[in-house]
Amino acid sequence: MENKRKYWIFDKSQKELEKYCIISGFKKYGATQVMKWIYRRKIFDFAEMTDLSKSLRKKLANNFCAETPKIVDTKYEEDSDGYSKKYLIKLLDGETIESVLINYRNRKTLCVSSQIGCRMGCVYCETSGLGFIRNLTSGEIISQILVIENDIENKITNIVFMGMGEPLDNIVEVEKSLDIISDANFIAVAPRKITISTCGILSTLPNIENHKYKIAISLNAADNITRSKIMPINKKFPIENIVRLINNRKPSIHNKITIEYVLIKDINDHIENTKKLIKMFSPSKVKFNLIPLNKEKKSIYLKDLETSDSDTITDFKSKLFKAGFTVTIRFSKAQSVNGGCGQLKAEKIYSQ
Ligand code: SF4
Repeated sequence: MENKRKYWIFDKSQKELEKYCIISGFKKYGATQVMKWIYRRKIFDFAEMTDLSKSLRKKLANNFCAETPKIVDTKYEEDSDGYSKKYLIKLLDGETIESVLINYRNRKTLCVSSQIGCRMGCVYCETSGLGFIRNLTSGEIISQILVIENDIENKITNIVFMGMGEPLDNIVEVEKSLDIISDANFIAVAPRKITISTCGILSTLPNIENHKYKIAISLNAADNITRSKIMPINKKFPIENIVRLINNRKPSIHNKITIEYVLIKDINDHIENTKKLIKMFSPSKVKFNLIPLNKEKKSIYLKDLETSDSDTITDFKSKLFKAGFTVTIRFSKAQSVNGGCGQLKAEKIYSQ
């Protein structure tokens, strides 16, 4: 990204900045110094980076822009355990994206977006209804963390790629952002505290596996007919491919994959589905996260879908649990701030 013929510093990897320093006649280490100022100290004015030579500071100011995106709207919800805050963030080109902070029991988890809109077409997802606009750059992914850490004056402890967009559909920029997010010198969130959630793009999943990030796969059905109806990606990567990938994982990888299952009334919540899931997976390889459909009342896109009854949710959980699986139910902490991905942006668009 360029701004008035200047490069946006947040889009540059460490290697790219090192190359820039060397070509410009400075020491390679200048790149690490600049990035520490930006990502650790949150200093975005090159003139204030006092351990850099004056000539490097001047050169950087001439060639790079370090303007951060702006928070344009928020929704806040508090309960006895903590709070959730949803952010609508305006990027430098005027597009908006969402991030959600979930601050519970000393854990500050940030749900980041990886695309503006999404082309995957999952029928239970508000972002899908917005269509696909474009991929985010690595800097746009990272800057969600920076602006929210500045807002809360504290550090984010966990990152989940579960906001707008499919991270594995934007793998190059997502991987580039992860290099900076997980680097102990920079944003310093350990790989084991980063979760990549995918609808099941299996072709690029190994890129993520190799770095030991946690993986969540949205399954949402126990048979291909149902899954293809609610998740078009199933036609390309059907359930049996997901099962094979999980069962063939190297024994050295200890992290269990999380199987996400959005419970939608009369679509995928029949108790028979638990029998199929128990047959497919082993408790040693996966754990389940059941997610009652988060349906914002004003939603146009989700109008025909209903959340499963609470008894059905409890039964579903109990069957999987009795078969030996770890099962959690994620009642979205951000439910009342329209916490489903794309809901705050959708609300803005639909109310115009
Ligand atoms: S659930 Fe995720 S992959 Fe599916 S449409 Fe929504 S953002 Fe895209």
